[in-house]
Amino acid sequence: MKTDTATPAEIIAEHWADLRAASMPGTRRPRASHIGRHLAEAIAERDRIERQERSTLGRGASPAAADLSAVQVARVAEQGLLYVEAEVRSGLGLTLYRRATGNPLTVPAACADLARYRTWLGDHANGRELTQWMDRTLRPVARQIITVLGLGDERPLRLLQPCPWCGSPLLVHAAHELGPHVECTGTVKVCEAPATTWIQGRPMWRWDDLAALGRALTHGAPPATRDPLVDAAEVGRRGTGLTQAEQDRLYAELNTG
Ligand SMILES: [Zn+2]
Repeated sequence: MKTDTATPAEIIAEHWADLRAASMPGTRRPRASHIGRHLAEAIAERDRIERQERSTLGRGASPAAADLSAVQVARVAEQGLLYVEAEVRSGLGLTLYRRATGNPLTVPAACADLARYRTWLGDHANGRELTQWMDRTLRPVARQIITVLGLGDERPLRLLQPCPWCGSPLLVHAAHELGPHVECTGTVKVCEAPATTWIQGRPMWRWDDLAALGRALTHGAPPATRDPLVDAAEVGRRGTGLTQAEQDRLYAELNTG
């Protein structure tokens, strides 16, 4: 089945800096905190609907409440990655080496190497088996990171508030192959939100760009701005000999209509 979900190691690498920030007082807050309240509301609503479905349809048991702290999860993630890396290296017949634990660069480096081993495993006799084992072992770790960061789970999450610019639903992808992002679905009309990245003609906000989206969700979208028809330098050239007030008036006149 084709899925656009990232591998567990990719998810861990993507969220690692935020997990560290969440586990250490005095460090910068996780990037998704810009839309934190909106995420929490959307997750609570989805949980409510699913609880209702379970009780109405008698389906399954409700999941055990997670009791996680960012510090614990960071430790588990590092241990898990080092264990998986050692097993994969031995499976590939590579010599083992020791990485420094507690170093902020250890997890991203191990994740990057796991991506490389993954490619090599493609041509290896036990490749498929080992790749599946790697993902099975690391998936719970990736899930814990997403949960402890307040992102719900790996499923796309629909925010309760629509896109401030076009009114279409906004989808949050915490575990996407393109990296974590919020996407405007553009189902109401073509969206002209000032995003830095676009996905198939629709705006998307990467985790580093969430501040602008968070502001717009909280305070409403800033009015659409248009580049001035005539810039200040042009007014300066046309208005030689004019006072500043006259130049300002000329600038305003040239830019109306
Ligand atoms: Zn939109």
